[in-house]
Amino acid sequence: MYMPDLSPYRYAGSDSPMLAVGWLADAHTFDRGDVPAHVVERLIDLAFEMPHLMRGCHYCPFCDEESPIRIDVPRHPTPLYLGMSEIHVRSVSGVVYSAPSLVLHYIERHRYRPPDEFVRAVEERDGHERRGADVRSVE
Ligand SMILES: [Zn+2]
Repeated sequence: MYMPDLSPYRYAGSDSPMLAVGWLADAHTFDRGDVPAHVVERLIDLAFEMPHLMRGCHYCPFCDEESPIRIDVPRHPTPLYLGMSEIHVRSVSGVVYSAPSLVLHYIERHRYRPPDEFVRAVEERDGHERRGADVRSVE
């Protein structure tokens, strides 16, 4: 399933419009670069919310890592399995981004660099929540 970054999300049914981030495929190039560690940590927490959980499993198109790819996160009691759900990020201005959970693997293993506005949305939400407000509004 390929969707260009920041194109309208069109996959699982959704009540509200979202923008696609990280729906990569091997026929398409993508930006590479560093992603701040606190952004990755925040994305991991959002991945545990598992919106749009699916029956099947998506495989990484760039490597042979055994699927589902598993991430062990000390602060969570269960491991995180990638490729079966999504990560939704709502910016403070109300734009909602949808990324496949595999985006965590793309970032860590393949140096995928999501669009700046997505990274900023994750950081904004993080700061917002540290101030103790509106914790549950991220879907
Ligand atoms: Zn891979």
